Amino acid sequence: MGEAARERRSAWAFALVAAGLLSAGALAGLACSKPTSEPAEVASPEARPLVGVKIYEPVADTDALFRDWRRLRIDTAFVSTALAESGSFIPAARGAGFKTLIITPVFFNPEYLADHPDAWAITGRGERAKDDWVEFVCPSREDYRQERAAYVLDLLKAHQPDGLSLDFIRHFIFWEMVRPGDSIGPLDTACYCPHCLARFQEETGVVLPEEMAGSTRRTAEWLWAKQPEAWARWRVDLITSWVAGVVRAARRIAPEVIVGVHLVPWARDEYDGGPVRVVGQDVEALASLVDYVSPMAYAHMLHREPGWVRQVVRGLAARVEVPVYPSIEVKESYRSEELTGAFFETALDAALQPPSAGVVFWSWPPLTEQTPKQEILERRGS
Ligand SMILES: [Zn+2]
Repeated sequence: MGEAARERRSAWAFALVAAGLLSAGALAGLACSKPTSEPAEVASPEARPLVGVKIYEPVADTDALFRDWRRLRIDTAFVSTALAESGSFIPAARGAGFKTLIITPVFFNPEYLADHPDAWAITGRGERAKDDWVEFVCPSREDYRQERAAYVLDLLKAHQPDGLSLDFIRHFIFWEMVRPGDSIGPLDTACYCPHCLARFQEETGVVLPEEMAGSTRRTAEWLWAKQPEAWARWRVDLITSWVAGVVRAARRIAPEVIVGVHLVPWARDEYDGGPVRVVGQDVEALASLVDYVSPMAYAHMLHREPGWVRQVVRGLAARVEVPVYPSIEVKESYRSEELTGAFFETALDAALQPPSAGVVFWSWPPLTEQTPKQEILERRGS
């Protein structure tokens, strides 16, 4: 590591300590540890780390809420569409000095599917892309893509948040349930609906053999066996191109708007190239369009060690030139083992070490319910 880079990292680390978000112990560890790779670019050392929280439901007393956030050094609210549409929350948060970003789900849309059963994404097994609460719309339907883009842009116009945090901007999978070492086969992926297969052939020139007709399973297996690159690239483009269109239009509406994407937190090579092959997120292409990326680094849920959060951040920061804001959990999900204060604190330390540009807590209700975890944050501010 060069001297200038070392100074930059060191200044960044001290900025985090000054902001009360990186413990002195973590700083000492940083000074001793030798990074294996240098991130391509880090956020300005002078910038304060972003400290965000995801909030989905209305809160009765917003004045008390904002007092709590100030005490915990939270400066940015990632707000659900429902809360944004309440009409009062974003102006109140803005008025109290918080940055606001609306979390906008893209291809996850149970309400739409209830009214448009023909719009379901279809898995390689020929089944609807539904796994528990996860329900995905086919990503190649132009009518849905345009309708969803208009919805997102209308939210921007109507509520004037500081930004948009694009969520479920990917292909179907219940990734929260995928454990280290699991395998994800072609049949687990989507979408193989007739509309996608027709559009893929039309746009790529690939022709599906006649004997595939009538068997989604055989078609899925054939695509991954015989045309893996064309199929993967076409699926990725469905995701990237939607983001490109929305970012362009959003910046016409509000030139200063901040747009980011939520990323499935897998490393590039995990699950046999899972980020591209399964969820269709081309990290470099997406990052070139947006202002930040936010990996959902939910270590406890994913049966990882809390320090894994740092690997996620470093892996991404080495590949993108925009800030990386890892999102971390406050409470256990999908498993009975408690997410302890010690786990939370270690994950938080990992989330805030360089080259991270901040942290986003998922989500507010468990943080407000758990005093010990609030105390961890407060201690950092003392
Ligand atoms: Zn489809």
